[in-house]
Amino acid sequence: MSKFSRRLMLLGAAVAVLAAIGWWMIHVPAVQDAIFRRVIARTLTATRDDLLEQDSLRVLLCGTGNPLPDRDRAAACTAIFAGGTIYLVDIGSGAWKNLALWRIPAPRVAAVMLTHFHSDHIGDLGELNLETWANGRDHPLRVYGPPGVDQVVNGFEQAYSLDEGYRIAHHGAALMPAANWQMLPIAVKIDTSPGVSPCAGGSATVLEENGLKVTAFTVDHAPVAPAYGYRFDYKGRSVVVSGDTIKCANLVAVAKGADVLIHEAQSAHLVELIQQEAEQIGNARVAKIMSDIRRYHTTPLEAASEANDAGVQLLVLSHIGPPTSNLLARIAFMRGVADIRPRGVLLGYDGLLLTLPANSKDIETSTIR
Ligand SMILES: [Zn+2]
Ligand SMILES: [Zn+2]
Repeated sequence: MSKFSRRLMLLGAAVAVLAAIGWWMIHVPAVQDAIFRRVIARTLTATRDDLLEQDSLRVLLCGTGNPLPDRDRAAACTAIFAGGTIYLVDIGSGAWKNLALWRIPAPRVAAVMLTHFHSDHIGDLGELNLETWANGRDHPLRVYGPPGVDQVVNGFEQAYSLDEGYRIAHHGAALMPAANWQMLPIAVKIDTSPGVSPCAGGSATVLEENGLKVTAFTVDHAPVAPAYGYRFDYKGRSVVVSGDTIKCANLVAVAKGADVLIHEAQSAHLVELIQQEAEQIGNARVAKIMSDIRRYHTTPLEAASEANDAGVQLLVLSHIGPPTSNLLARIAFMRGVADIRPRGVLLGYDGLLLTLPANSKDIETSTIR
């Protein structure tokens, strides 16, 4: 038998074996159940408890999109892991699904820091509260934010209160204590003078616990006011989250010397193209909205120059808009950034994890799936 015929026979045998295995899997219920059992066991034990190790400050991008719908990005969400606890800056639509799929230790979510109350920053607050409670959170969820946060929290609680009742009736109050379902709204007040730009200055300590200090600061997202960003300091490492804002001197001042700046970014020239196309086809509504939103965000170029001014080590662009669903769109979005800041810039994406070991200068990047 020739070498070729022998290879052909071996290939035929391999195909026959694979076909037999395929038939077996499709037609034998016991095989399907055994495979399913293994998948369940792996999923139930796959919780990412490693993220809670107290040797590092960690940042996980749980939503990097903006209100323009994007298949690849949930709305605004940044998770901070420090002192064995999880804090979320904003919780936009789709963010809870990300966190659940990534198996983050849900009961350890302690607090949400809302930057402002646009729907793309609060959409999943009800889901987050209900799901982390159902998963065993043994404390009420604290929700910090600008004045007005109690109205947002009360609204979500009212909308979800029937479901709260169903869960308690179904699983029992011992497993689902009502006291832990109730959220705690905490308004953070920052003194600002009337008529003075919020970017002229203004900050306040939000909390100090487990070695973590969180500072809120004012940014300019008019007509939304007040609007905040947040700075996290833990074991000699620091991360700043911009919130939604135009280019802002107060943000640069608060971010001075930080390790990481997570900054919102909207490409003004791409939004302008949408506006022009909308005008072209006579869609005045879309044209007007695109014209309005161009004026209350930061462009990638402005974010790069702010990162330079603040002297941060790494700038990560988030709250990306318009959607950058392919390489060409991402290149257009980042146009000119490298001229301003050749190094230390990342275009953020859902699942980007930054690990900042305590008392070092290292920033490790990886992806959670
Ligand atoms: Zn906004
Ligand atoms: Zn937004």
